[in-house]
Amino acid sequence: MIIVMKSGATKREKEEVLGRIKELGYKPHVIHGTTRDVIGAVGDERGKQIVIETIESMHGVESVVPILKAYKLASKEVKKESSIIQITDSLSIGGSQIVVMAGPCAVESEKQIIETAVAVKQAGAHVLRGGAFKPRTSPYSFQGMKEKGLKLLAKARKVTGLPIITEVVNPESADLVAEYADILQIGTRNAQNFELLKKVGQIKKPVMLKRGMSMTIKELLMSAEYIMSEGNQSVILCERGIRTFETATRNTLDLSAIPVLKGETHLPVVADPSHGTGHSKYVAAMSFSAAAAGVDGLMIEVHPDPEHATSDGPQSLTPKDFTALMSKLKLFAEAAGRTI
Ligand code: PEP
Ligand code: MN
Repeated sequence: MIIVMKSGATKREKEEVLGRIKELGYKPHVIHGTTRDVIGAVGDERGKQIVIETIESMHGVESVVPILKAYKLASKEVKKESSIIQITDSLSIGGSQIVVMAGPCAVESEKQIIETAVAVKQAGAHVLRGGAFKPRTSPYSFQGMKEKGLKLLAKARKVTGLPIITEVVNPESADLVAEYADILQIGTRNAQNFELLKKVGQIKKPVMLKRGMSMTIKELLMSAEYIMSEGNQSVILCERGIRTFETATRNTLDLSAIPVLKGETHLPVVADPSHGTGHSKYVAAMSFSAAAAGVDGLMIEVHPDPEHATSDGPQSLTPKDFTALMSKLKLFAEAAGRTI
C-alpha cells in the first residue's frame, strides 16, 4: 500500500507511521517528494482492509491507497514520475538523454579493451561495456578473464573516463564485481536467479537487469521487484530479445516491450539490439527503432576485430560502423525529443 503523508506532517508523525507499518509486518520505503512524503509499504495485502483503515486514522496521514499491481516498488502506482538513476556525478539515465553503452561482448586483452574504449568514446558512447565473467551456453566456450578482466576494464575507465558496466554471474562474485563496476549487469540467463537478484539488491550500485529470453514483461518487473525490495532502487531494465519461432534473427527484439514498460514502470528502459538480432547488419536499424519507441539507453556490442572475437563476433560492430550508427542515431533521438 502507499501511505500519502500530509504536506505538513511532522517527523514524529512519520516515525510513528513507519513503526506501525513494521509492526504490521510490512517493509516501508520512504519516497521524499517536493511537497510531501510518500511511504510505500510492501507486503502481502490480502485481507488487510482493516490495516489500511487504522493507518488512515493516524496523525499526519492524508490517505492510504492499496497497490494492486503484483510489482509494487517498480510500479507507476507508487511513483508516477520517471526515475533518473545517477551512474556517475555527470551521467544519469532516465532523463532526456539516450545513454549509449558500447564495447565488446567479452574483455579479451588489454589492447582489445583499451582500443575499443577509446574508439567508442570518440564515437560518443557514454558507458563502456565488457564481460569479465561470461555465462556461456557451452562449458567449453571462453568463460571470461574474470578478475583480470575487471582490472582491465578499470584501466580502460581510467584512460577514457567512461564508466563501466559488466556482468555479475553469481552471488559469490557480486562484491568483487561491484568493487570495479559502475553498473552491475544481470544477464538473460540469470534474470530469475532470485538469490543473485537479492544479492545485488543489497549492493549500492545501479543494476541493469536484462529480460530473460523466455520471460514475460510482468516476470521482468517481478525480478526488478526482487532487487528493489532489498533496498536498491537503482534498477535499469533491458529488452534484449526473446525466443520466438523466428530463426532469421538470434532472438526477436521485442520493441513493443519498450512502450509497455514505460507505461507500467518508472524505471529506465534500455534496448540491446546486438543480442536482440544477433547480426551486426541489423543493429543500426533496431537502434533507431528503439529510439523511436522511447528507450532511455542502448547497449551495443563493438569489437575492433569482430571476425576474431571470442564471443558474439557476428553481432559486433566495427568501430567504424558504430561511429556511423552514432551520427545517424543523433537524428532519430532528436526526432524523439531526446539527446545523445
Ligand atoms: C552480454 O551482454 O554479453 C550477454 C551475455 O547478454 P545476454 O545476457 O542478454 O545474453
Ligand atoms: Mn554478448
